[in-house]
Amino acid sequence: MAIVLWTLWFFDILAGNAAFSCSTVGVNFRLFRLSLLAAVMPLVAVADIQLPAAAAPATTAAKPTLPPGAISTVSATPAPAPMPATPEVPAPSLAVAVPATPEPPLEIRRAIAVDEKAPLVSPPVSKIVFTRCEVPAPVIAITFDDGPNPDHTPRLLDMLKARNIKATFFMVGRCVVTWPHIVKRIADEGHEVANHSWSHPLLTSLGNTSLDSQLQKTHDAIIKACGKAPMHYRPPYGAIGMSQRKRIHEKLGYSTILWDVDPLDWKTPRNSKKVEERILANTKSGSIILTHDIHGTTVDAMPATLDALIARGYQFATVSQLIELERETVSTVVATAPAPVPLTPEPTIPVVPMSTLPPETVAPAKPVKAESAGE
Ligand SMILES: [Zn+2]
Repeated sequence: MAIVLWTLWFFDILAGNAAFSCSTVGVNFRLFRLSLLAAVMPLVAVADIQLPAAAAPATTAAKPTLPPGAISTVSATPAPAPMPATPEVPAPSLAVAVPATPEPPLEIRRAIAVDEKAPLVSPPVSKIVFTRCEVPAPVIAITFDDGPNPDHTPRLLDMLKARNIKATFFMVGRCVVTWPHIVKRIADEGHEVANHSWSHPLLTSLGNTSLDSQLQKTHDAIIKACGKAPMHYRPPYGAIGMSQRKRIHEKLGYSTILWDVDPLDWKTPRNSKKVEERILANTKSGSIILTHDIHGTTVDAMPATLDALIARGYQFATVSQLIELERETVSTVVATAPAPVPLTPEPTIPVVPMSTLPPETVAPAKPVKAESAGE
């Protein structure tokens, strides 16, 4: 290329000679030179483009920059431990093109710019079934089903009061109307009142009309007895259909409360020590413990069981308090962490096989005569 340019320069000196430039040869030479320039210049242009690129070192490639507030994806994998002195795999260069295959969803994180507020996500109020709760502290809920019972519930209330423990009572409607003064004491002493149907049937065997009646009658009876409305229900035997639990939530606002700790206190032969051992062996933070205050052996097991749980550092809450603690926890985590928090999937409802059901779980409500109609 340099030779061509020098040749053109030389002929240009000749063209500067007046005699030469005015001659016919000179004019033809100028035309020839213009043609030669037209042919050569594209080559010069290509050489100009290629030369810097070939000479530029790869390491000087500019890093991509994002405007303020832009969203980028970074790996969720925590920073690895320092590599050995001779790492086998070099660190990836920023100049390497991003592969077409996207990262797995769980490894994608949203980098929040400094001036961008963290997203506020509503608590999972759509969650309407609980077997236990995700809580950040050793908080548990103990629940008592099938009462109230005139022989055992009052002495249980004494035990709870002596330890300043708040519990949740899932009560049967026909027992509520029989012993309303016990229901009132339960509520007055700060425990949570909850619905356990009117006559303890297998709800999955009922049509919608009977299902509604079982829960609405009990709901009304509890309000009449103590002035407080239940917020939750527990289906007898833990058996409830998917559409039924949605129906109940829509009609009464109830959450379906199941359990993750079952000491089998209803099973014969009943044994207080076994009840205590099973509860202590299976309780963990966020547990919902299932027991029945219609059985003397269960209430007999409570002093040692409650004292052991307190000694292990557990704090007792009502079911509503435990659920609220979970909602606050999830909301806080979402609001402070850059990563989305996966919602806990709805638990599978443990349906107790009919063959294992006790023949009679509910204490007979002797004085009640009218409730049998329509049940
Ligand atoms: Zn029950």
